[in-house]
Amino acid sequence: MADILKPDLCVIGAGSGGLSVAAGAAQLGAEVVLLERHKMGGDCLNYGCVPSKALLAAAKRAQTMRKVGDFGIQPVEPVIDHSAVFAHVREVIAAIEPNDSVERFTGLGVKVILAEGCFKDKTTLTADGVDIKARRFVIATGSQPAIPPIPGLDETPYFTNETIFDTPGFLKHLIIIGGGPIGLEMAQAHRRLGSEVTVVEAAIPLGKDDEELRHIVLSRLEEEGVNILDKARVERTEPFAGGVRITFTKDGQSYSLDGSHLMLAVGRRPNLEALNLDAAGIKYERSGITVNSGLKTTNRRIYAIGDIAGGPQFTHVAGYHASIVVKNALFRIPAKADRSTIPWVTFTDPELAHVGLTETDARAKHRNSINVLRWPYFENDRAQAERETEGFVKVVTNKKGRILGASMVGANAGELIQLWSLAMQKKINVSAMASYVAPYPTMMEINKRAAVTYFLPKLTSPLVKRVVGWLKKLG
Ligand code: NAD
Repeated sequence: MADILKPDLCVIGAGSGGLSVAAGAAQLGAEVVLLERHKMGGDCLNYGCVPSKALLAAAKRAQTMRKVGDFGIQPVEPVIDHSAVFAHVREVIAAIEPNDSVERFTGLGVKVILAEGCFKDKTTLTADGVDIKARRFVIATGSQPAIPPIPGLDETPYFTNETIFDTPGFLKHLIIIGGGPIGLEMAQAHRRLGSEVTVVEAAIPLGKDDEELRHIVLSRLEEEGVNILDKARVERTEPFAGGVRITFTKDGQSYSLDGSHLMLAVGRRPNLEALNLDAAGIKYERSGITVNSGLKTTNRRIYAIGDIAGGPQFTHVAGYHASIVVKNALFRIPAKADRSTIPWVTFTDPELAHVGLTETDARAKHRNSINVLRWPYFENDRAQAERETEGFVKVVTNKKGRILGASMVGANAGELIQLWSLAMQKKINVSAMASYVAPYPTMMEINKRAAVTYFLPKLTSPLVKRVVGWLKKLG
């Protein structure tokens, strides 16, 4: 007979979403069982956000050494010790790891089981010989790199984001298939660390982003020497001369390209298989588990959050989902997930950030009845001082000044976009964004100046001029 556990909550998957639910629920006094089949911390800590940002940070320092001439400092070509760079990446992971560790969660009162969970029926999950009959389950099993059906790939060595951070050293020529955020972040990092890099994208690189903003990022990458091939279809890969060879078609012509290493960054697929979802009466598609706005699956006792729930695949979405599920499952408050104000950032240099509707989406949805407010980085004094003058913010409002979306490209755009996220989430109008006092000189003033432009046509109207004229006459 299997042992039986009957906790309040059983969380499957200890990535960012699962850990947030488990910690939140345990701190509120719930009895929680947490299952993890591989590494605590999941993709974000081990193979995603954390190592990629650590690698990009090292690459940025290398680039600074090449680009300090404008500041009166002699530029130098940096000497890069690749094994030390990757040691830095591991140290960053290790510094964060304790927050996600078995010890920490056990200390919070969570029972952690390091095993794969599989549903037996609608009310029971089994893991490592233990049956778990929880009052509520939360599926937070995340996603893994998608592997495209390219002929020859089975015989060709390749990296994904799960293995690229274990690289033993210098990659002479890295070919990356896929020009989404993962592909381009890794392209810039490796290029700045001295590799030759080619990105082969089947459609448009950063195709989910606003065209104007995307163009600035892609131009910078190309200036730095990343070779980006768009609308290129990879027909075949093969091992070649100690490296790899890819064959692709572009504009009807066939080409082959040799590299030392290959990386795949063509999107992600949800980790559905091991769960035996049919036994639990849970509907799913290839893109993920079907959930309602409260993140409940078709089994009313079971929730799904994060990448497995099919929507945008970001750590902050998983964290947001976790807070919704804790409210729903523990407090029975009918909280709903709202995608419309979820920001997203690509951490290239310059960074590219969005929240809400892009200009194109806003025009389609509001039939062009919108205002587009802009402010460039070069009109910001701090950006001038920092020599970070490339980029701009673009804000879309309706005619009454309600903020519909903001897009930003430039230095620290991922930080600067947050004011617009807050404004949208808390329904703050553009007039508030224009009238608060911002410290000078900061880059954040770019946001305020964009908001002020909403009022410029009104302030310079003949009526306002007439009123000012009358008031002058009053002495
Ligand atoms: P993606 O889906 O965003 O981009 C993959 C790209 O690969 C697409 O442009 C697609 O056209 C291309 N592609 C697909 N098949 C191809 C093929 N056979 N040949 C050439 N190109 C092909 O996926 P990603 O970049 O792998 O990222 C995965 C997820 O992780 C995304 O949802 C992304 O938003 C998220 N992510 C976010 C961040 C961030 O927020 N900074 C960073 C990394 C990843």
